[in-house]
Amino acid sequence: MYKELNVPQRTIMTPGPVESEPRVLRAMSMPIIGQFDPSFLAIMDEVKEMLKYVFQTNNAQNYAVDGTSRSGMEALMNSLIEAGDKVLVPTYGRFGNMLIEIADRSGAQVHSISKEWGKVFSPDEVIEAINRTNPKIVAVVHGETSTGCMQPLAEIGKYCRENNVLFIVDAVATLCGAEFKMDEWCVDAVCTGTQKCLSVPTGMAPISYNEKVEKMITERKQVELGLGRDQDNPRRVQSNYLDLSQIQEYWGSGRLNHHTEATTMLYGLREGLRLIIEEGMETRLNRHRLHEKAVVEGVKAMGLTIFGDPTCKMPTVTCINVPEGLDGEAVRSMLLKEFSVEVAGAFGALKGKIWRVGTMGYSARKKNVYTLLSALEACIIANGGTVNRGEALQAALAVYQSNSEVYWY
Ligand SMILES: *Cc1c(COP(=O)(O)O)cnc(C)c1O
Repeated sequence: MYKELNVPQRTIMTPGPVESEPRVLRAMSMPIIGQFDPSFLAIMDEVKEMLKYVFQTNNAQNYAVDGTSRSGMEALMNSLIEAGDKVLVPTYGRFGNMLIEIADRSGAQVHSISKEWGKVFSPDEVIEAINRTNPKIVAVVHGETSTGCMQPLAEIGKYCRENNVLFIVDAVATLCGAEFKMDEWCVDAVCTGTQKCLSVPTGMAPISYNEKVEKMITERKQVELGLGRDQDNPRRVQSNYLDLSQIQEYWGSGRLNHHTEATTMLYGLREGLRLIIEEGMETRLNRHRLHEKAVVEGVKAMGLTIFGDPTCKMPTVTCINVPEGLDGEAVRSMLLKEFSVEVAGAFGALKGKIWRVGTMGYSARKKNVYTLLSALEACIIANGGTVNRGEALQAALAVYQSNSEVYWY
């Protein structure tokens, strides 16, 4: 016999998935309704409207792809890239490599430029590569969770717009935790995920794109067999599931019967978005900055150092250098086992060298920051490391006491 499911209570301080808002989880326990039930269609329409606020856009096309964050990026790329199209990917970490991978599998001729992990590109470096490679699309990650660095986008977006290059952004780790202005920064298409700063479980990828992109996607429309296809489109999108020409019609007035929308995820997304709108974007971003500052000051007071160029640091991820001689993985597993605190390890060349700490969404709150700092200090000492004892919590306390804003968390 299997026992009833019972999962541990964790303090999740990773760059995702983060803790879900209790109100989101509550919304997700609502009964199932049919995908074409007028009450359900009304929720879809509300979500489309609410997404405008989080993406800071007036685009008409805002909806969610069912799948994890990368499904949104893959859907955008699959639906925009045709065989041999040139795509430029400036990469400065693991998720830039993911964009190369997706573009390549979508049939693109991929050009990439890369930056040492821990730094980002100057706009001129990207502009020079655009001029050299003459791409149809530039695809870039806004915040690299693998390095804790954030690429400024406005100047690159402006140049792309002026030169008729499509600008696609992965804002999975930044949206609603760091400033992101789709229209102002001339971003043509963007994708995010639910399990990071939206504080909704993983499983949906909200996207937004403008009229120009919509037109390109619509030109490739081919409706699934049996749903009234009139003719074959030689330019049809290779994937059926991730074909935005069909998905936009499911979310639009056509209500094309493409897939069955993820009912419970949609409830969760709607509640997550409602809470963001209620909190207000500016307040939310300030809250993320405050908790990030408490983490950074606490960690420094302990005597540890932060990885990466501080001028491009993400407010949602802090990468901490593992002190020389200390077994970073042993500290991480002790954090989880003894204190139920989860932080992330690293990828590639940074494996074992840094700990990655997230301050995202519902996880970005005082209780979590204090718990993280005290547990980290204890685990470093227990593993033979040296720290300035007792300083971290005092530094975090000082950050919170000098803040006059009142936040929910
Ligand atoms: C987490 C993350 C992803 C991947 O998200 P999945 O939901 O695991 O598909 C993509 N890009 C960035 C920048 C991320 O931080």
